Amino acid sequence: MGLITAEKYKESLADGRVIYYKGEKVENVATHPDLSVCVDVMALDYQMAEAPETRDLAVAKDPETGDEMSRYYYKPQNAEDLLKAYELIVKATELGDGIIPLAKDIGADALNAINITANIMGNKDFVERINNYRKFLQEKDLATCAAVTCVKGDRVLRPSDPRQANPDFYVRVVDRNKEGIIVRGAKIHITGAAYANEMFVIPCRAMSEADKDYAVSFAIPINTKGVTQVCRPFQSQYSSLEFPVDRPVRTHTDSFVIFDDVFVPWERVFLCGEWNHAATMVYNFAVMHRRTGCAYRIPLTEQIVGAAVAIAEYNGVAGVSHVKDKLTNIIIYLETLKSLAKTACYDFVIRGDIAVPDPIATNMAKYHFAHKYHDVIRDLQDIAGGLLVTAPTYKDYQIPKIHDAMDKYLVGKKGISAENRLRILDFIRRLAKTERETIVLHGEGSPMAERMTILMEAQPVLKNCQKLVEKLAGIER
Ligand SMILES: Cc1cc2nc3c(=O)[nH]c(=O)nc-3n(C[C@H](O)[C@H](O)[C@H](O)COP(=O)(O)OP(=O)(O)OC[C@H]3O[C@@H](n4cnc5c(N)ncnc54)[C@H](O)[C@@H]3O)c2cc1C
Repeated sequence: MGLITAEKYKESLADGRVIYYKGEKVENVATHPDLSVCVDVMALDYQMAEAPETRDLAVAKDPETGDEMSRYYYKPQNAEDLLKAYELIVKATELGDGIIPLAKDIGADALNAINITANIMGNKDFVERINNYRKFLQEKDLATCAAVTCVKGDRVLRPSDPRQANPDFYVRVVDRNKEGIIVRGAKIHITGAAYANEMFVIPCRAMSEADKDYAVSFAIPINTKGVTQVCRPFQSQYSSLEFPVDRPVRTHTDSFVIFDDVFVPWERVFLCGEWNHAATMVYNFAVMHRRTGCAYRIPLTEQIVGAAVAIAEYNGVAGVSHVKDKLTNIIIYLETLKSLAKTACYDFVIRGDIAVPDPIATNMAKYHFAHKYHDVIRDLQDIAGGLLVTAPTYKDYQIPKIHDAMDKYLVGKKGISAENRLRILDFIRRLAKTERETIVLHGEGSPMAERMTILMEAQPVLKNCQKLVEKLAGIER
């Protein structure tokens, strides 16, 4: 088995992949001035496996052969495995200053969802293919991404509905032969796809029989002929208006992925026409990926706590009762998220031959995070005060006369410099940017998807509670 180094991962990206960014074709994502920032974030995953202090967390051993592999590609069997993966994601995100490296976690969620579906279907071919593919990832230590979200067109219409403006809003099989299948369509918002090695494709919804051509799942190298990606723009450097920070910018980009009659060999096809199993695949992916999402939101939430405490102190209001109330809200928010995410691991369920985090706790964790996020950010903005938007900039601070005035007038509590107060405000501005609010809401699925899953999974609980009350009320049915 071969764990690879961060350098080797970066070298692997010069493979002729077709990537566009800000209207230009990218020669090499690893050396591109903006995209290399994201590549460095993804490389953190490989560095964790190299560094002695994180190696135990990042690397798992095959129980039979003792061979080492990335923990992400290890098949979770119990609560301990799930907790280790959870801790790995939290630690990786801490090292990414609040941004998950994303080299393998979302891909692992797709891998496990495909694995579960193949087992539930009882289709020996699919089981063998996904087992072989897992082995391939373990041996090559490749970076993966998951392309689930199709562009969808009219959301209310099914993929095959003739009223859709075109038949390609969901990725579909347009031809097949002895060697494999040909697929067409487009996926959107695919994080890390431009600098992963391999892409999992899975359906994004339940399918009906009429949609069977859309019930397709496979994995392909990113440089596969016919695959084109367009990355969303992002800020790859700190603004020169902010106080300089001696840390690299940590961020990702997401791709619009076009599949223009792409050939996929059969050994890489994991679903092809089995329309009644599309839901199993996307559903299990969503559960595992929401748990992953909650784990990487914990370091981000700790940053919100830290920023709120710091600015409350710097403004001199830390002891004021309504500010203490708001800090309490933020702490409750963080601790609820942590507890639900861990409970999901302890209360795991076995699906196929894989341990899956408890679906209700997982969906509650993700829903809680997204639903209350805006409240917590509002509390932080409230404590920070209006200077969050009106503060003069670092560039102004460099003008001697204004520098002196800022040093004199823009301090809060005695003993805290104006510069430090302004630095925290810069930090909060970056932390609470609007872009992140959308990611929190829609990343890993929109809130309604989580509520629907909670209600569906809670049916046995609801029935038991009803029975209990009927018994207490002397009702016999
Ligand atoms: C930053 C970011 C990163 C992401 N990364 C990935 C990734 O790596 N891989 C990936 O596959 N996806 C990724 N996603 C996609 C994410 O899972 C989707 O954004 C999410 O599922 C919502 O889909 P959508 O954006 O198409 O919104 P829509 O589906 O258009 O949802 C918008 C609203 O319409 C409602 N709605 C939609 N359809 C229906 C319907 N049929 N009936 C009733 N209401 C409906 C929704 O509930 C929501 O309120 C990412 C998203 C973001 C923002």
